[in-house]
Formats: sequence, structure tokens, C-alpha cells
Amino acid sequence: MLANMCQMLKDAEDGGYCIGCINTPNLETVRGVIAAAEEVNVPIIIDHAQVHDEGGIKVEVVGPLMVEYAKKAKVPVCVHVDHGADFSFVLRCIRAGFSSVMYDLSRLPYEENLSKVKEFVEFAHRMGISVEAELGIMTLAMGEGWTRETIKTTFTDPAQAADFAERSGVDALAVCFGTAHGIYAESPELDIQRVRDIRAAMPPSCRVVMHGGSGVDEDQIRAAITAGVSKLNYYSYLGQAATQNMIELLKGEYAGKQWHDAQEAQVDFIKEYTKNVLTLFKNGK
Ligand SMILES: [Zn+2]
Repeated sequence: MLANMCQMLKDAEDGGYCIGCINTPNLETVRGVIAAAEEVNVPIIIDHAQVHDEGGIKVEVVGPLMVEYAKKAKVPVCVHVDHGADFSFVLRCIRAGFSSVMYDLSRLPYEENLSKVKEFVEFAHRMGISVEAELGIMTLAMGEGWTRETIKTTFTDPAQAADFAERSGVDALAVCFGTAHGIYAESPELDIQRVRDIRAAMPPSCRVVMHGGSGVDEDQIRAAITAGVSKLNYYSYLGQAATQNMIELLKGEYAGKQWHDAQEAQVDFIKEYTKNVLTLFKNGK
């Protein structure tokens, strides 16, 4: 069933686990990820990123598929915008039927980010749409000038997170404490105490979100969930593993066969990979 993000994040925080938020930039990923959530029996957030829209399939094509599969799913599924930086992109997603939006204005100065997100929250909540914002800098990948040390300068300040959450009324806030997007050039080292401090400082109704979850070792992921993360974004390593799997399929048992059969095998691979991820996110619950 199609769901709003707020209730699933509240249940996750109360229960000591977290909800996976996974990019689904094509039909095989939509099918594999939702099937995984059904088999593990957990709610899930599937999302479409503005960068994937710019470089690949448009929300007008993949969005209705995401919504349709969400409605038919046996578990609650939130269909969410990932890093919507342009209002026009966010509106296109809402028109496609999305139930939740990450409105990412983290590139703007603090007060401008806050006032624009606040205005958007008032608009979105009137339509029953949940909102995530971002504070800090999470848009860069390690290896692109950032190291374990220099990334510390981008970490979210707990007092500022509290101020942002209280004044904007946002439902969830993506914060920075050691993760980055994409493939890690060196293994990340998370500041777990910072997650605890942010969680303690923010109003309870605003949930803590971790991006860049793929590529982080399992112990640090469990520690981040226990410290207060209730939404965890995950995609890059899944996308990369799926590419490698497709290479092996096409060189191996599907060489010379029809590609739609190989695609079905790919859906199974994505499902199995995602089941492992979602089982980890249950945090032993
Ligand atoms: Zn992200």
C-alpha cells in the first residue's frame, strides 16, 4: 500500500530499527526492491533522485510505475523524491503521485534553506505529503577532494539541527556525520556520538536520516540505527553490484539468449541483495 513517511519512521524509531530508502531508477529495481521488502516483511521507501532524472529515465515514466507497485505491495511503501533541488522537479514528482519529498536546499545559506523549506512544508503538509530536508553537505562523494579528515568540516551541528527542525516543521532531516554519496575512496568513519546528540537535540517528531549508507560496514550501520537513525538511504553499492551481476549473466548462462530472460534474473539478484540490506536495517528486531 502507498504510505506516508511519517508513521513508518515513528514506528521504526520506537522499535529500534530503521527504514531502508532505496533509489529505483528502472523497473527491474522497483520490482526487486519491493519484492525484497515483502519477503523481509518491512515497510520501505523507494525514491527517484533528481540526478537520475537528469541523466536517465524521467519521473513521468518511472514515477507511475513506482506508485502502481507501491499500491499493490503487501507492505507499506512510501514513494519519495530523493535530493529534489529544483521546485519544478519536485512538482513533477508530486504530479506523478509521490507521497513524500526530500527538498534539498542544503547548498543555500542556512537561513535561506530554512525559510524555503518551511514554506514548502506548509504547502506539502496540506496535501498529506511528508518532507525531508538536509543540513550539512552530503552532495559530494569521498575521493572527490574529501577524506575522512576533511569531511569533518561538513558535519551537522546538533544545536543548528534542532533550530532547523523546530522552525521549519520538517518531518525528517538528513544530517552529516561521516558518510558520503557514491563509492567510498577510503572506508568511512562515522561520528556516532554526533547522531546521539542530534537525536537528543531535535524535536521527537523530526527523524534523523543517514545518506550514503551503502559501503558503510555493518557494525557502524547498526550503531547509527541504535543512536537514532530511522531512515537510511542506500543505493550506490547495490547499483554497482547489479552491473557486475549483469556482466556475469551475459557472459555465462544467458550468453546468446534473449535479454528479457537475463533481466528477470537481474530482478532476482536485486531482490536477494536488497533482502540482506533490509535484514541488516531491522537491527536484530
Ligand atoms: Zn543522498
